[in-house]
Order: sequence, then structure tokens, then C-alpha cells
Amino acid sequence: MNIDFNKFLEINQIKYYLKKFLVLVFSLIFILVIFMQPRQAISKDEDIGQEKTNDLYAFALNATIGTLIHEIGHLLIDVYEIPIFVNEEDVADSFLSYYLINLPDQFDNLETYELFSEIDHNVLIDAADFYYFNTLLGKDLDDDFSTHSTDNRRFFNILCNMQNGNPEFFEEYLNKRKIAYLLEDHCLSTNFNEMRGAWANFVSEYWIRDIEKTSKQFIISFEKNEDMQIFENFFNDSYGLEYLDTFQIKLPYPVKVSFKNCDEINAFYSSADNEIIVCYELITEYFFTRYDILDLKDSL
Ligand SMILES: [Zn+2]
Repeated sequence: MNIDFNKFLEINQIKYYLKKFLVLVFSLIFILVIFMQPRQAISKDEDIGQEKTNDLYAFALNATIGTLIHEIGHLLIDVYEIPIFVNEEDVADSFLSYYLINLPDQFDNLETYELFSEIDHNVLIDAADFYYFNTLLGKDLDDDFSTHSTDNRRFFNILCNMQNGNPEFFEEYLNKRKIAYLLEDHCLSTNFNEMRGAWANFVSEYWIRDIEKTSKQFIISFEKNEDMQIFENFFNDSYGLEYLDTFQIKLPYPVKVSFKNCDEINAFYSSADNEIIVCYELITEYFFTRYDILDLKDSL
């Protein structure tokens, strides 16, 4: 496999400087948003406390970004005709790991790596946690994602990439979930470097080097919905919108990202409509899953 590693490093350095700036700006906006938000408005029906509310929104946002990156994986497979040798769902999931796992040796120093990885690694952890929580709560969403692997398998796929791709960073998370001993069997066939090399081969020529050109690749819209208004504001004002706007792989044309009701817990990529749809029902599911886990924690 031919990987131009210098190119890879260069791309990631650009990514870093952009993100360093974004993290600063968004941290500030995030703090403002949280403190300006009337408490009543966040938890409409029930006073669950500010800390829990923040936790729920942060989790739902990260899980939603994880979903978007997975759907963008489908999009890239489609528009760049990336060959699929296994289940396309697994390949889209592998894009999630490829895009989100960063390594210290891709950066000048540890500080820049840590800043750069802050959002990416947390998105991946929350994406993995969604499957972990479902298993813990005894609900596997396999029926709703019939073409996807089971939650359990998808959970282990991400975990194996974490352990294989950046064991040093993800060790703490793997220990916290107390599943390190299970990974030995599950991760036998995982080769993160090979997977990363394969994705780099397909997408490195489309990496956007000029920071100015990273914006507006996605046309984002939220269907009007009173219940989702605060999430919409949170997505736009914290780092959801900007994360999409700074997506670094050049797409051949702008792609619609539509948040809406669909009467099912799901997300789709539609090649015919050139659109990614994230159902409000799925975002609501992220909220409730996290809520149930916090509830379970309290009851123990
Ligand atoms: Zn999928």
C-alpha cells in the first residue's frame, strides 16, 4: 500500500491549527450558551438539574456527530466509488474510526495533539458508549438498523480500533468499561494501520489544505420542531455546525444534511437525493439512552 506519510502529516497539521482555533472559540461560545440558557427551557418537563442536562446535551451532540461521520462514510464510498470488500456498514464504521482517531506522532508536540484530539476522541467514545449503554439497558437497536451489525459487534469494532489505533489514549476508557480482557478475542482480525492506510489511499487526494475552503460543503437544515429547538440551537452554537463546516475531505458537490422527523429511529444517506437525513427520533433516542443510564447510576 502506498501512503504518502508526509502528506498525511501535513494535512493533519493544518487540521490541528484550525481545530486549535475552533476549540478556543467554541469553548467560549459553549460556556456562554450554557450560562445564558434559562434552566427551565432546557429541561421543560422535569427539573433534572443543570449538570445532568449538560451531560445529556453533550452526549446527544457527540453521538449525532458520530452518526453524521458514519453517514459521510457512506457518502464517500458512493461519490468516490470506494470498493467494498465486506459489509458496507462496517466500512462506513471504519471511516468513523479512521477520521476520529489521532496519533501523537502526527503532530509537532503533545500539546497540539491533545488540543486537536479533544472533540474527535470524545465523539468516538460517546459513539461507542451508545452501543455499550444499549447493551447495558438490554435494548439492542438491531431491528431499527437491520443492515447494521448488532450493537454489540459495532461496539467491539470501535473498541478494537481504539485499542489498535491509539492504545495509549484509549486505555483509560477501555479500563473504565472493564472490557479490556474481552478484546483479545474480538480484535484478532483488526489491523488499524492497514485500515487507515486504505482510507488514506482513497481520500488523501481530496484533503482540503486551505482552511478557508473547508466551509459550506454541507447544506444543513432543521425541520421546525418545538421539542428539538434547544438541541438545534445547541448544535449550531456549540461545535456541531462548525465541525461539519470544517470537514476536511473535499466533496464533489454540496450535500444536504437534514434533521427531521421520520417516524423511525434512524439516519440515512440518500445517493439519489444527495442528502444525509438524521431523524429527530434517533437524536431523541440518544437523549433517552443517556438519561436511562444516569437514572440507573443514581439508583445503584
Ligand atoms: Zn450505515
